[in-house]
Amino acid sequence: MKVLVVGGGLAGLAAGYEALVRGAEVTVLEPERVGGKVRTVREDGFVIETGPDAVVRYKPWALALARELGLGDDIVGTKPARPAAYIRVRGRNHPLPEGLNVVIPSRLGPLIRTPLFSPLGKLRAALDLVLPAGPDGDEAFGSFIRRRLGREVWENLAAPLTGGIYGGDPENLSLLAAFPMLKELERKHRSLILGSLAAMRKRKTSREGGSLFASFKGGQAQLVDALVDRLGSSLILGEKAVSIERSAAGWLVNGTSQSYPADLLILALPAPAAAELLRPLGFEAVGELQAIPYHSAATVTMAFDARGFPERRGHGVLFARSEGFGARGFTWLDQKWPHRAPVGVALCRAYFSGPEAEKGPEALRDTALADLRRLLGKVPEPERVWVDEFPKGMPAYTVGHKERLAAIEKAIRRFDDLALVGAAYRGVGIPEVIRDGREAVARLIEQRTSGGSVVPDAG
Ligand SMILES: Cc1cc2nc3c(=O)[nH]c(=O)nc-3n(C[C@H](O)[C@H](O)[C@H](O)COP(=O)(O)OP(=O)(O)OC[C@H]3O[C@@H](n4cnc5c(N)ncnc54)[C@H](O)[C@@H]3O)c2cc1C
Repeated sequence: MKVLVVGGGLAGLAAGYEALVRGAEVTVLEPERVGGKVRTVREDGFVIETGPDAVVRYKPWALALARELGLGDDIVGTKPARPAAYIRVRGRNHPLPEGLNVVIPSRLGPLIRTPLFSPLGKLRAALDLVLPAGPDGDEAFGSFIRRRLGREVWENLAAPLTGGIYGGDPENLSLLAAFPMLKELERKHRSLILGSLAAMRKRKTSREGGSLFASFKGGQAQLVDALVDRLGSSLILGEKAVSIERSAAGWLVNGTSQSYPADLLILALPAPAAAELLRPLGFEAVGELQAIPYHSAATVTMAFDARGFPERRGHGVLFARSEGFGARGFTWLDQKWPHRAPVGVALCRAYFSGPEAEKGPEALRDTALADLRRLLGKVPEPERVWVDEFPKGMPAYTVGHKERLAAIEKAIRRFDDLALVGAAYRGVGIPEVIRDGREAVARLIEQRTSGGSVVPDAG
């Protein structure tokens, strides 16, 4: 059985690997850079993540794959720090309350003690304990948090914490698509605080203990490298899929240099690229694919001589919107991770998203440095700078995402040999895209080998 995967980001590589493990004849096409959004720069003792920096441990699919690939010994956790992260509100850095469940305080003690909220804001947050559950169905993330916990929890905690995950503005994210676990907490426990307490007891991962996030000694690219190794000559670099044909014999994907026949086709692409390829086939959900909004992201990583560098606390700081910084926040990479920088280097990464990320490399660098100086005071010129841009690189699951996804899945059901996987659909994090790629391939191959239904030509 021939499996063709279009796109060599982590979703595509994981899909290709799963097909290989299941004994299929696999081809993965990638035109630009293998690993997609995963971009680790390794030079002169630095391991710089200009793209994704970490995977969360409680979504097990990335680390499970890593162990399967023999990388178990290379998994690293963050350095313990208490407090681990800060939020800047009203001109001061305040520690994140301990024991957060996504963005929800799970313990009353830290909620009462935190200076992030005014006494009135805390009382309003505590109303969550007695407020009735809201109606079923989807709702904007911003209005959900304000309804349960009040405006201050939204502005000073939830919005800064989640602004970076989907890029752009978190206000209109779909609760059901982006944070289904929070809706589930309300449904099951009524109170988000009480539900979070129960969830955190089970999870036992925390930022403070260094057990929430994981990476690899050599950065996220180690996972990409291991997959590339396994795929060997199945991976074809420099090859872009330009069109797709479908006949009774199966799929034919036309690349820039040659055509590839396939029994099963996996499109592991950003949604607009998938829409372009599927439009000529009369795919019914092209409009829904194009309606998934994408926002830009960018990172600026700066290395300084640590001698005399101002004190930085924890792993980093996030900015509330009202503070007026250009960046969303800073990560102190040398303090967060082992193995990232030579000894004696202070390594600071600024993260930008939305329109701020579209200003171009020079302006990004200048803004990052100006923000850092505003935050820390006297900061010298950096010794090295890495700027990376991801134009329209982050899909946002806005209200209506579930319906869009349902329409896309309905259109796919007309085929029994096609899957669309990756960050656009069922989760944007590395663990989710890996799960997505592997599960889709497993399902299609099992369907085929168990003599699943043959669906008529889609033309
Ligand atoms: C700055 C940044 C920070 C992030 N931080 C984190 C983090 O800390 N933790 C986390 O879990 N996630 C993080 N993410 C999200 C995560 O990195 C991505 O969602 C994930 O890597 C996307 O994988 P993917 O395979 O779906 O898509 P991509 O990585 O976008 O891969 C798609 C691939 O398709 C290829 N392609 C496009 N058109 C064609 C074509 N016509 N033919 C063939 N190939 C084509 C592209 O070249 C690309 O390589 C971050 C993302 C960004 C941008």
